[in-house]
Amino acid sequence: MKNFGLNIWSDENFIIDGDTVNINYASKPSLLSITQEIREKGYKGPLLLRFPHLIEKQISTLFKTFAKAKKEFGYKGNFHAVFPLKVNQYPNFVNALMDISKGYDYGLEAGSKAELIIAMTKTPLGAPITVNGFKDKEMIALCFIAAKMGHNITVTIEGIGELKTIIQVNEEFNHQSATPIAPKIGVRIRLHSSGIGIWAKSGGYSSKFGLTSTELLEAYEILKEHTLLGNLWMVHFHIGSQMGDIAPLKKALREAGNIYADLKRRGATALSAINIGGGLAVEYSQHTASQERNYSLNEFANDVVYLMQEIAKSKKVDEPDIFTESGRYIAAAHSVLVAPVLELFSQEYNEKCLRPKEKNPPLIQELFDLFNTIKRTNAREYLHDALDHMESLLTLFDLGYIDLEDRSNTEILVNLIIKKAIFLLRSEGTDELKKLQDRIQERYLVNFSAFQSLPDFWGLGQHFPVMPLSNLSTKPTNPASIWDITCDSDGEIGFDRNFPLYLHDIDLSKEEYFLGFFLTGAYQEVLGMKHNLFTHPTEAVITFDEEGEYRIEHLIEAQNLMDVLEDLDYDTGIIDKALKYRIEESTLITPDEKRELLGKIYLYLSENSYLKTIQAISESTQGEKA
Ligand SMILES: *Cc1c(COP(=O)(O)O)cnc(C)c1O
Repeated sequence: MKNFGLNIWSDENFIIDGDTVNINYASKPSLLSITQEIREKGYKGPLLLRFPHLIEKQISTLFKTFAKAKKEFGYKGNFHAVFPLKVNQYPNFVNALMDISKGYDYGLEAGSKAELIIAMTKTPLGAPITVNGFKDKEMIALCFIAAKMGHNITVTIEGIGELKTIIQVNEEFNHQSATPIAPKIGVRIRLHSSGIGIWAKSGGYSSKFGLTSTELLEAYEILKEHTLLGNLWMVHFHIGSQMGDIAPLKKALREAGNIYADLKRRGATALSAINIGGGLAVEYSQHTASQERNYSLNEFANDVVYLMQEIAKSKKVDEPDIFTESGRYIAAAHSVLVAPVLELFSQEYNEKCLRPKEKNPPLIQELFDLFNTIKRTNAREYLHDALDHMESLLTLFDLGYIDLEDRSNTEILVNLIIKKAIFLLRSEGTDELKKLQDRIQERYLVNFSAFQSLPDFWGLGQHFPVMPLSNLSTKPTNPASIWDITCDSDGEIGFDRNFPLYLHDIDLSKEEYFLGFFLTGAYQEVLGMKHNLFTHPTEAVITFDEEGEYRIEHLIEAQNLMDVLEDLDYDTGIIDKALKYRIEESTLITPDEKRELLGKIYLYLSENSYLKTIQAISESTQGEKA
């Protein structure tokens, strides 16, 4: 994996410059220097860095690409976009997003009442708001309130029941009004074509959402009967997230386009927009062979514009405005999770740890000889001998013929011989050698929680690009697996010999080593769970001034222990009292010690759950490394 696949996934947002990975923007600072500056302020544990310039890049690319496609085809409808809040509702993200998108008439999509409140407060008047998902009467009433505020809001009907509630709410809000104000209405259609991939369930007959063709006709009649047909202006579909293949989109576009045209010809004359939902994919892969997306944004935009134009032409209706609700595409790149490596587990397999005896058992002596004399020409043979000896020696141990020191020497020597053999035979790349990498893989213990910060890895096996922030002018040689600090064996990103990750052999008592997890800006934050009570990490927004220098803004520290417990509805007053009482009443300690322990416990309570120190490291360097 050359350059950790940066050329595949990074979209030129990051570059390797000498030893470090840098932001390819303005003064091009390294992620390492930003990380160190934040840590010097006293923030330890994992850090979530947000880069608004990368949100801006995605938004401007989306609008530019559709503008280009529209121009190329002479398309007469307009292009609009909204951000689906479910992808990231964190204020540091949403505030940056709304700030950046001012020039684009960009709005928000809401799928719940709480999201709708965010949309109503953060969307500028006039910019579109779309409301999808299941709605009760209150939620529909909120849409009417938003319309009466002056918002350009469209409520999407997902079922006939919702439509009936809209009519009811409309009567309540507008029955006496000479100038009734109601939200615009959209209809979500149930596609017969379905998406593909792990997020495909949003489309197709069995989808949770949308009206069948029979229901569409029924909705049309109901709207007409209640003189609301003039509000029906949008046809909506969403085929699922991370659409790797463009083909299902084209099918869905034809289906939706024809529904749009037929409803319009039937008499829904106000109908003038088609909302293609989200689904635009992000390339997460670090290996050419596992790329996740088979199309470019150009192709995507051209297909949408071309197909809508074709259908409008053949059915002789106006070309509709095009709306997208792409979320992943807008948000994924904007954040990087930086996490410190705490320990390399198998570092004990080191020559320094050998304990040779005056007289070693013969097989172990032979392992010493193999290790000292292995070279390119004999590597394969010696490797096989070593593996064979290891089996015998482990049996000898079980039978009580050799002792623990001998067993330790065996494990170290065989590990070292495998490493040497893989190195000597590296040009051959045989299956056997690949398999042996599993055996010598280094386990990196990393100060983060995969459940909190990469939930889609845990739940769906979604890969996220990972690379070290430093040492990049040195070739990494350790086949690596990554372990998080939860007590759960699912919190492991295992070594995959088909798509291997190699990391550096680091002496953590001498230098720090950080891993960056990239493209974590979409879905991961709010889906993240507090397994073991590890919470949302400390976050910061990184902006750039006119000189191109970076600034660290809006730092929000991970929740402290008491706030975590309060979130679970513990009475923290009682916890506080209980801790104090138990220290004060302890018969094991002196009053002086009690005071000291109370001081300590209050300090710890004010800090977050992530690890601050690892014993072995702090002893050797006196510093805090975690
Ligand atoms: C989730 C969702 C989106 C966003 O999908 P992405 O794949 O993140 O672009 C858009 N529209 C609707 C209706 C959704 O449910």
